Formats: sequence, C-alpha cells, structure tokens
Amino acid sequence: MASVVTLPLMEDFYTIQGEGFYQGSAAYFIRLGGCDVGCVWCDVKESWDASAHPLVSVTEMTRRAKDSGAEIVVITGGEPVMYDLMELTGTLKASGLRTHLETSGAYPITGTWDWICFSPKKFKLPHDSVLEKANELKVIVYNKTDFAWGEEFALKVNNECQLFLQPEWSKEKEVLPLIIEFVKANPRWQVSLQVHKYMNIP
Ligand code: SF4
Repeated sequence: MASVVTLPLMEDFYTIQGEGFYQGSAAYFIRLGGCDVGCVWCDVKESWDASAHPLVSVTEMTRRAKDSGAEIVVITGGEPVMYDLMELTGTLKASGLRTHLETSGAYPITGTWDWICFSPKKFKLPHDSVLEKANELKVIVYNKTDFAWGEEFALKVNNECQLFLQPEWSKEKEVLPLIIEFVKANPRWQVSLQVHKYMNIP
C-alpha cells in the first residue's frame, strides 16, 4: 500500500558514492532538507532550511530510486536523522533496495539500515546511542585538532566499525599530507577522498 508519509526532499539522483567504505559503488542519493548542526564549512548550506524543499511521499522517493536501477540507496542531507525514517527505510527495503545512512548522529537513529556512516561534528555533539550502531566512522579533517577528536570517537564506537579520515574539501592540499602520515602511524584508520568531485559528478 502506498505510504502517505512525506519528507522534505532537496534532491535525489543516481551517481557513484564518492566517500568512505562504499567509495566507487553506484548508489541512488536521497538528500533530505533540514539541518540544525551548523558546520561552518558545510558545502550544502542550502539544505539547512527544511521549509525550502518540497514534501515528497516516501512511496514516490522509493519509486524513483527503484526505477533508477540502483541497488544501494544513500539517505543523506541535511541531517536526515532529524526525521523518523522508519517508513522511508521500510518502503525502500520492501522494494529490495539496500538502505545506507549518512549522519552526524545529532539525534537517535530511527529506521532499518544496512549501513550507517557516522560523521560526528563539533558543532552539535552526537547522541550516544549512535556509537554502537555505526558501521563506519568518517571524521572530516579541517585542522590538526581533528585527529585527536577522531581518536576520541574511535575509542567509543563498536569494534567492527571502519575508521576513515577525510580532508575537508577546501583544506585538502593542507591536511591530506597530515592524514597520510597519521594513517601510516595508525593503520586502523583509512584515507577517504571525495572522489566524486574529481569525477565532476554530484
Ligand atoms: S551536518 Fe552536514 S548538512 Fe548539516 S551543517 Fe554539517 S555538513 Fe552541513
């Protein structure tokens, strides 16, 4: 039965996941509008105001994702965990799609997920319940203090969690050499680059 639940949708598109554990894999992105985290370096500030984006039913979002031919659907934002995502993930999974989440963990996570990428932000601390659910910890490195910040979370997430350090795009030239040296000294971590930006795709 079609769901009447709606969520603010900023954009949705089929592309290549450019970051983290699934880097290089085809994925359908659903970018929900609304975020109250306030990262100073945010590259999707136009997502912040939820009311600027149309409400779209989860049935329609699922139909578009399914029609794309994708196997993986990435729910991102904005900050998607501001919303109850049970209905959206339930509808996607009922269509045979994998559900992946990109979140700062600012709120407890709802929904049924095949993969959770947790990227904590200093601007709004994550909810403790996210730490044990994360499959991937992705720390954005903007300056040197972010290594210690990332290590704090690496100690708190579950043992299976994959650890990634990713340069903030505008600081890449400056921080990538530091990341490389850090990963060589701490091989539990891996480097993540935003390879979609090199491919000039969204
Ligand atoms: S959590 Fe994401 S969308 Fe929200 S301000 Fe930070 S980078 Fe931007």
